Amino acid sequence: MTNGASGVLLVVETRDGAIRETSRELFGIGRTLASETGGSLAAVVLGSGLDAAASEAAALGADRVLVADAPELAAFTVDAYAKAVDAAIDATSPAIVLLAGTTGGRDLAPFLATRRDVAYLVDCVRLARQDGSWVGTRPVYQGKVLTEVRAAGDGLTFATIHAGAFVAPEPDAGRTAETTALELNFAPGEIRVTVKDLVQAEAGPSNLEQAEVVVVGGRGLGEAANFKLAEDLASVLGGAVGATRAVTDLGWRPHYEQVGQTGKTIAPKLYIGLGVSGAVQHTVGIRGSETIVAINRDPDAPIFKMADFGIVGDVQEIVPKLTEKLRAVRGG
Ligand SMILES: Cc1cc2nc3c(=O)[nH]c(=O)nc-3n(C[C@H](O)[C@H](O)[C@H](O)COP(=O)(O)OP(=O)(O)OC[C@H]3O[C@@H](n4cnc5c(N)ncnc54)[C@H](O)[C@@H]3O)c2cc1C
Repeated sequence: MTNGASGVLLVVETRDGAIRETSRELFGIGRTLASETGGSLAAVVLGSGLDAAASEAAALGADRVLVADAPELAAFTVDAYAKAVDAAIDATSPAIVLLAGTTGGRDLAPFLATRRDVAYLVDCVRLARQDGSWVGTRPVYQGKVLTEVRAAGDGLTFATIHAGAFVAPEPDAGRTAETTALELNFAPGEIRVTVKDLVQAEAGPSNLEQAEVVVVGGRGLGEAANFKLAEDLASVLGGAVGATRAVTDLGWRPHYEQVGQTGKTIAPKLYIGLGVSGAVQHTVGIRGSETIVAINRDPDAPIFKMADFGIVGDVQEIVPKLTEKLRAVRGG
């Protein structure tokens, strides 16, 4: 590195003492970039009660783990987290700092980058070192177009990573890392925000991730009431109902039923998509399905490219007949 810095620092968020999935995903890309910079992979783990999380960071591939364990870090605040990450940067002198594209990560990265007057690459799905500076690729226009952004200069750079863009590595429980506790003392009034309560989003009764059959309804079902078609079909197959984001955004179905990049990842034996176009943000969550069936009236719908079986037609006509036939065959 021209500025003498090398290596990668990951900002690892935890919840209830465990590393969050979006932070686990940082380790895959982190390892690759550390090799490219010829440096090591450091991780600063933030939260409260972090013994297990610190070992997991080592198992996931960190060479060096800095543990920022304090009651003040139990819930995210920019002031407390910025202080901890600043201390980790001073201790490791990385070429790049990677953060998950969570609400916290997107708050923290521009705050830290602005204070240090350095570059910040937002929402990267790819990241590489090219001709001495960092180049991030990020989706724009609802993911329809990818754009490349080059960081100005060759100095320290911050980047947030798009959720789901990289796969978390398999942990190696036997792996160890140099682990250091960061000494952090917070003065009264230094943390300007007090988190009074954390309210968990409704988990819902759905067993989407375990179901062997999942019937996903898309906007092509036309209205919320037509989800009866998906429910009846799922019921005759002993399966669960899922939804696309278009549907949950419309309020037709609860968010906990959403499948895809910002919803659940499923791997059933059988996936049936009703009026689902097959946008990449949806299909990324169904790739593990053994058999994919799609019913869509548009023969050019992208979902047909990955479907094992496709029916071109109107869901209103086809689904009731299919359900009836299956009920007769299965004797239900
Ligand atoms: C950052 C980001 C994250 C996202 N995360 C997710 C995610 O997690 N999950 C997700 O699903 N999406 C996600 N999306 C949204 C995604 O890009 C698509 O907009 C969404 O998946 C489209 O949903 P849909 O297929 O239901 O609707 P549409 O794209 O509107 O497709 C409806 C389909 O129904 C068909 N159709 C219409 N009427 C009928 C009929 N009567 N019979 C048969 N077929 C019919 C049409 O031909 C069309 O193909 C995300 C987008 C972004 C930018």
